[in-house]
Amino acid sequence: MSDLYNRHRAVLPEWLATYYREPIEITHGEGRYVWDADGNRYLDFFGGILTTMTAHALPEVTKAVSEQAGRIVHSSTLYLNRPMVELAERIATLSGIPDARVFFTTSGTEANDTALLLATAYRRSSQILAMRNSYHGRSFTSVGITGNRSWSPTGLSPLQTLYVHGAVRSRGPYAQLSDARFIEACVADLEDLLGHTHDAAALIAEPIQGVGGFTAPPDGLYAAFREVLDRHGILWIADEVQTGWGRTGDHFWGWQAHAENGPPDILTFAKGIGNGMSIGGVVARADVMNCLDANSISTFGGSPVTMAAGLANLTYLLEHDLQGNARRIGGLLLERLRAVGAHSPLVREVRGRGLMIGVELVKPGTDEANPEAAAVLEAAREGGLLIGKGGGHDTSVLRIAPPLSLNVAEAEAGAAIIEQALRAG
Ligand code: PMP
Repeated sequence: MSDLYNRHRAVLPEWLATYYREPIEITHGEGRYVWDADGNRYLDFFGGILTTMTAHALPEVTKAVSEQAGRIVHSSTLYLNRPMVELAERIATLSGIPDARVFFTTSGTEANDTALLLATAYRRSSQILAMRNSYHGRSFTSVGITGNRSWSPTGLSPLQTLYVHGAVRSRGPYAQLSDARFIEACVADLEDLLGHTHDAAALIAEPIQGVGGFTAPPDGLYAAFREVLDRHGILWIADEVQTGWGRTGDHFWGWQAHAENGPPDILTFAKGIGNGMSIGGVVARADVMNCLDANSISTFGGSPVTMAAGLANLTYLLEHDLQGNARRIGGLLLERLRAVGAHSPLVREVRGRGLMIGVELVKPGTDEANPEAAAVLEAAREGGLLIGKGGGHDTSVLRIAPPLSLNVAEAEAGAAIIEQALRAG
């Protein structure tokens, strides 16, 4: 074991898990590559958990950060902050939410916390509808709406949460139904649930579940839910922490696969926008955002250095059409991995959209989760590729989510390593 790992274990919490038998220390990166402290180079297909969105060490972001750091690092929201206003304007316009207001936080957790604060205050209800197999963060409130046992360290909660069916398409009681019937069944289930309860404040959902193993409902499910929610006055919160900024290729936001009945009332974002600088945030309709009747601030939220990074990163993303790149390269990678999966007894399903691809692993010849995902991760690392893992209580999934600037050669190289790793794992 490395000396650094021993020191890590001696001083950091046990539940702060690391990947690999011998965890690696990443010392630098460039483009889609990173290097460890021993000088090994890896193709990075996880981007620090979908956070290195454009590229490692993107010169435009580095320049914006260093120039802003040279001017002023922090002033607080008590004073006007030009980069914060500019980024808020751009996100408000991109969000698709009419008359939108934006509040910046420092993480996805805090963004979802804020969304819950807004929805519960607006609706004067502490009841939340969340999806089974969801993940929304690590705080007390966000754990209270996380329907994934591996990421739920306590069952105690300030909220009353009801878990709704529908985010996992290929398992569970409705798995055998057609898409249209699946949606009908989930809507009927939601209607039934609402008939038994008090007025809920909001439904929160990841359009494609991240931690849960890149699972999604058929397109249109949340639009169908929306119709029911509207009848009850219940708000819809889209957690776009993983699915935002064009990662899914087909859409800029994940909710746009469910757009028939309009945008969500509240949208939360984080991860990719700062390319690693800590930016999270909430976008909401003005009447929802402005419903709080007391002051509220995030001291570090909207800090000038992070906002400068976000502006430079977003500009690069849009100017280089990385959403289009995610669609094209993600399409190729998905096709290639489906071909690999078809020949591997370990693979139950290859699914995803854009550069957000899940490979669900089973024990050969069964539908049971294969707990050996770690061995495949290990083999991929040995082959020079970093990927992630995830899943729910009954699934084990490889998660593939490279920076959105991935090129064809890198996609091919990564797929070849995954193919090898599945043979070895
Ligand atoms: N929502 C989703 C969908 C996430 O994937 C995550 C992080 N994995 C969060 C919220 C929490 O974000 P953070 O870790 O920045 O607090």
